[in-house]
Amino acid sequence: MKKPAQAEVNIGMVGHVDHGKTTLTKALTGKWTDTFSEEIKRGISIRLGYADVSMYKCPECKGSEAYSVTEKCSSCGKKSQLLRKVSIVDAPGHETLMATMISGAAILDGAILVIAANEACPQPQTEEHLEAIKISGIKNIVVAQNKIDLVSREEALKNREQIKAFLDSKEYPKTPIIPITASSKTNLDVLLEAVNETIPTPEKDLESAPLMFVARSFEVNRPGTEPGKMTGGVVGGSIIKGRLKVGDEIEISPPTEKGPSTTTIVSLSTEAEKIQEARPGGLIAIGTLIDPFFSKNDKLKGSVIGLKGSVPEARKTLEVDFHAIKRTTEVEKQLSSAIQKGETVVVAIGTGVTTGKVTGAQKTQQEHSKVVIELSRPLCAPPKSRAVISRNTGKGWRLSGYGQVS
Ligand code: GDP
Ligand code: MG
Ligand code: ZN
Repeated sequence: MKKPAQAEVNIGMVGHVDHGKTTLTKALTGKWTDTFSEEIKRGISIRLGYADVSMYKCPECKGSEAYSVTEKCSSCGKKSQLLRKVSIVDAPGHETLMATMISGAAILDGAILVIAANEACPQPQTEEHLEAIKISGIKNIVVAQNKIDLVSREEALKNREQIKAFLDSKEYPKTPIIPITASSKTNLDVLLEAVNETIPTPEKDLESAPLMFVARSFEVNRPGTEPGKMTGGVVGGSIIKGRLKVGDEIEISPPTEKGPSTTTIVSLSTEAEKIQEARPGGLIAIGTLIDPFFSKNDKLKGSVIGLKGSVPEARKTLEVDFHAIKRTTEVEKQLSSAIQKGETVVVAIGTGVTTGKVTGAQKTQQEHSKVVIELSRPLCAPPKSRAVISRNTGKGWRLSGYGQVS
């Protein structure tokens, strides 16, 4: 079977900083996703990273040994069959980068929650990330209990019990917990088997008017390129529904700062190759005719792309049926008060994130309130959008709840 060009499913790599997300992404895909100089210097992922991987199963081998990320079976050496191609989205785990993680969660179909075996569970971002995953409606996850090489068998089992109790408390009781060592690629076949069985490819809506969530945007010209030879701005993201083709006239919502908000698709590509048509699922990049000034440094991240004339308008005022989430840690106490008029909050819809001021808050029932928010920057909210809201606890922004935008 010929390898499909585009991945069919997006799987997030989430979890606390330093627990091994980027190392595991590299072990599976061969690609080191921390590539910006600032990320390399500081040793932490700052932006969303992404890499595609094809997953295979050997028809000859039994059990988890049959699974690998190479066409040649890693157990018997025979030719394996392609299961599917997957986009891995590597999220930053640092607490100051929760907004980036939440924007990534909007395009995920499932997630691998990486938890280091040599630390007590849950660490703060282990909980924050699982809450963000849950709020985003992601039901299917696998836990990679990483750094098994650093603990004794007894410690690993004790840590596993903590992880199990944590998952139960978050209503993810059936989640597989797979012990691995990402740095030496140990037990990855068992992880792949669990991912394959737990995170199915969702059904795709190919016929609706297309909508894409933009997760990253760039300028691809080298410094010093002559203006006449410049390539237009590039936007990367995931199509939520419908299809986009080379030549389509598209519209970006909210509009770019001053430049045009409509343009033409001049190219479509996956990580590895050019394609003519892109579908819902794995991340793609769209080459446009927009001045790259408007797309560089993730400037278009958070916008929504659709066909010209069919993109929902961006809004500055939102009314949200807010529902507070419960916490197990000390964050709970900090967030237990009701949302107040005048409070500044961080709002995420799709991959878009911005701050906003609460101009109306009315408690409707236990843990529910009608909240009106004036955003500092417009966000595109397609029908039935869910807004994810973070509040300032005095010790930084913490995920506090979500609600449908009316
Ligand atoms: P991230 O912040 O979750 O992306 O974590 P990284 O992948 O950047 O890894 C953080 C540190 O843990 C690095 O020094 C890795 O080399 C190390 N590390 C990752 N996986 C393992 C593992 O399985 N065993 C050991 N001993 N160290 C690991
Ligand atoms: Mg990382
Ligand atoms: Zn085999």
